[in-house]
Amino acid sequence: MKVEFTLKRFPINGRLKEQCGLPFSCVMQPYHRLTEKDAVAGDATGVYAEQIARCTQCYSYINCYCAFDTGGWVCSLCNRHNALKPQMQRRYRLDPAVLQSLPEVRCEVFETLAEEPSLVQLPPDAGAVSGPGPVVVALVDTASGEEFLELVRSSLEAALEALPPVTRFALITFSHRLGLHDVRAAHPSVRYVQMYEPAPRSTPGGAVTSAAAAAASSPAVAAPLSEVLPLASLLAPVGAFKGQITRALEEQMVPEEGFGANHDLSHPGAQAHPPPGAPGQESGMSRGAPGQGGAAGGFGPPPASRGLGPALVAVLDYLKVLQAPPFVAHHGMGSAGATSASVVGADHLSQNQSPVKLLLFTSGVPDFGIGRLINPRRRRAVAAAAAAAAARALAPGGHASAPPHPPTGPALPHPGPSAAPGAGAGADVAVDAEADPDAWLHDVPSSSVEFYEQAAAACASLGVCVDLFAVSQGALGLRFLDPLCSSTGGAVYLYPSVDESAMPQDVYLRLSSPSAAVGIIRLRTSPHFKVVRHYGRLFPDPTIPDLHHIIAADPSDAFAVDFDYATPSGFSGVTTSLPPTLQVAFQYTALVAERGPPEHKGDAEANGGGGAAAAGEGRRYWLQRRLRVATYRVMTAATVADVYAHTNPDAVVTLLMHKILRAAEAQGLQEARLLLRDWLVILALNYHRNVHSNLTPQQLSTVPADLHFSQAPLLAPLPRLVYALLRSPLLAPFAEGQHPDLTAFLRHLWSSLPPHELVRAVYPVMQSYTDPDHLAFPRHSLSRAALAGPDAPPIFLLDAYILIMVYYTSRCPPEVPFPPPQQSALRKAVAAIRSERRITPQVKILREGGEDADLFEQLLLDEPDAGEAGGGGGGGFGLVQFLEHVQGEAAMQMKHELAAAAQG
Ligand SMILES: [Zn+2]
Repeated sequence: MKVEFTLKRFPINGRLKEQCGLPFSCVMQPYHRLTEKDAVAGDATGVYAEQIARCTQCYSYINCYCAFDTGGWVCSLCNRHNALKPQMQRRYRLDPAVLQSLPEVRCEVFETLAEEPSLVQLPPDAGAVSGPGPVVVALVDTASGEEFLELVRSSLEAALEALPPVTRFALITFSHRLGLHDVRAAHPSVRYVQMYEPAPRSTPGGAVTSAAAAAASSPAVAAPLSEVLPLASLLAPVGAFKGQITRALEEQMVPEEGFGANHDLSHPGAQAHPPPGAPGQESGMSRGAPGQGGAAGGFGPPPASRGLGPALVAVLDYLKVLQAPPFVAHHGMGSAGATSASVVGADHLSQNQSPVKLLLFTSGVPDFGIGRLINPRRRRAVAAAAAAAAARALAPGGHASAPPHPPTGPALPHPGPSAAPGAGAGADVAVDAEADPDAWLHDVPSSSVEFYEQAAAACASLGVCVDLFAVSQGALGLRFLDPLCSSTGGAVYLYPSVDESAMPQDVYLRLSSPSAAVGIIRLRTSPHFKVVRHYGRLFPDPTIPDLHHIIAADPSDAFAVDFDYATPSGFSGVTTSLPPTLQVAFQYTALVAERGPPEHKGDAEANGGGGAAAAGEGRRYWLQRRLRVATYRVMTAATVADVYAHTNPDAVVTLLMHKILRAAEAQGLQEARLLLRDWLVILALNYHRNVHSNLTPQQLSTVPADLHFSQAPLLAPLPRLVYALLRSPLLAPFAEGQHPDLTAFLRHLWSSLPPHELVRAVYPVMQSYTDPDHLAFPRHSLSRAALAGPDAPPIFLLDAYILIMVYYTSRCPPEVPFPPPQQSALRKAVAAIRSERRITPQVKILREGGEDADLFEQLLLDEPDAGEAGGGGGGGFGLVQFLEHVQGEAAMQMKHELAAAAQG
């Protein structure tokens, strides 16, 4: 647990908070790694959560800020005196020495067990898996080239190394059909299931019915997957089946070809029944010719289609069984304490289910079946135009010129020779597609957009966390697919090409890092303030108030909340009796090696026996439902200066980013940019008034606002960070040459970054070196001035979070080795950055004027943007101009207020 308050001292009331102009919020990392020392000190797993004392009034857990007396204890959040119930008296003997030995009384953060752990069982021999256990399903797009699949093979082989041996793994491939890879059979095989296009259905008014209704009325696949192969037989424990899984990856996961591009032209809107003998049908048995398929883009068979939607529908239906016997643990004893607590106390929802991760690998746009992003109308129009052109070419006097185009983008049916006028209603669309291969992004069917939102909700309710690994040079429609990951605690990885991909490293990193699954979180506050808004990937429980779900989280995933005062008087007068206190209770499921249930509480056999069979490489693994409770007490500040002296600028920027993303969604990009600029103007004015509190408004308006915040050094980084946010792909207009999915990718990434990582992503860190072994300066502004000048160091290291650049200026003496030697300090610095990042950054080493030098220059954010005129600051401005602009706005505001006061 880690909680960072934007204001480390809370403003004493709402009026002071308004005078400061800073967000009153905090950023939390509920699953943040505890230090070894804190983990040991706060380890209360010797007992279950129901044995930890809780306040009868506010349901807070007893904590290190509670006071004890002879009759019991006083709640540190609500001040209620709690008598110790007889069953509690054994643990909480009112002897200071005993109390101080209790983790929940001694530590800010303690952790206990919410339920009896369950042993992850391995099938005795060749039998099917049963009982709760971690599940990983790889869903691989085979409508792609061999090059992509080779990358997926290496990535999944890395996954097999990263995953604990008891993980149940399944390999499912998809194109226009699903392939269930049965690795446990004596003769490993693939069982294919055909997917369907949804039957066209429209209401009499012509409106298309909802995606859900369409899904319900026409099946997405030919047969439920459970009838083809029961899930329990498909899932193979990684430890025992590593060899078989590797073989399946190498021999059976092959590109599909030759289906789809023209398919829905021949049967517009009809259900898809591939012609017998379609090339894809045999390809499961033999490795396809390399270099073919969509991504390769050569001549040859048209690319297969990608039925991501039907695949998701079928796979989610398949995974439902994990919530039912034989995959659910049966405990003799339940959490009696939890069930008797009223809903306000419900921090335990019994959810001893298997945590599921769905790894989705794709390299193109879903274009088949439900959830297809390419509008079928567009495809028909493109094809009609192509047919018309072809007909003209064949006709006497026709002008056959260009040869038929090969497909350019992955799975994007490219129009044939340019559409000519008169090719029908679709001609415009065809011309459109010719000019801009990503034009389809503008008319994605709304039913498909809705489909991914619904599929995401279905994943979340099953506790399925979706990680998306995408390789594509062109647009994939990430913004439409994003809910699958955002709503399920999943991660998104986007690589522009196979060559520039660190997918195997990222898969390894993602799967080897600890993760909390099926989490629920509840925040309790002392009565004078409350939580009013949430940001990040946590979702309110539909029935229980103030309880939020976190489907999955890794240690660095961050969430944020806004606070507000319960009354206008805020904390005035209460700070001695009830200082502001926050308690966070986070319950989650984690896989833990070699740890049994508490000794005095049942025995291992109660977990279903079969202990011997559960040995995975000699270790036993348990699924533990854990509860982590953290309590924080915060001081208050009574002056603006005191608040400014206790500001956490990184946390402030994190909140700004969340708020501005929300504003952009609701009001559009332009409005969001203006709001962000205005926020800085108001902050500058607030600071200005506070610093010059002795001046009259008249005098005040003659002094320019100080954007360096020289009297409040903690605010000093904010103008630059606000400026960088405005320049970022999140808020800046789309730039030439930018990946069409970059904005969606960054939005996903940034919205779960903890503050210190986010600021680095927003405003890259640039260091300099005198030579590869000697650091010159740890920090430079991102300006040309930093690079130039006679005394400027010759080598720069720029860390832009997903990209690291090592830049040799032309001043660099020729004898300095290029690239820097592996053992040099510079290389070690790069390696250190790479090792701590959740996404493996790409590393580029370049010389001034050489390849990629433009990219480096673009990252010198302080320099004016080449883009169009500025409206709202940022675009078209450099940092200097932006600060002048903000200063001007502040001056105008002061004049305006003065005039208003004179009139009033
Ligand atoms: Zn209480």
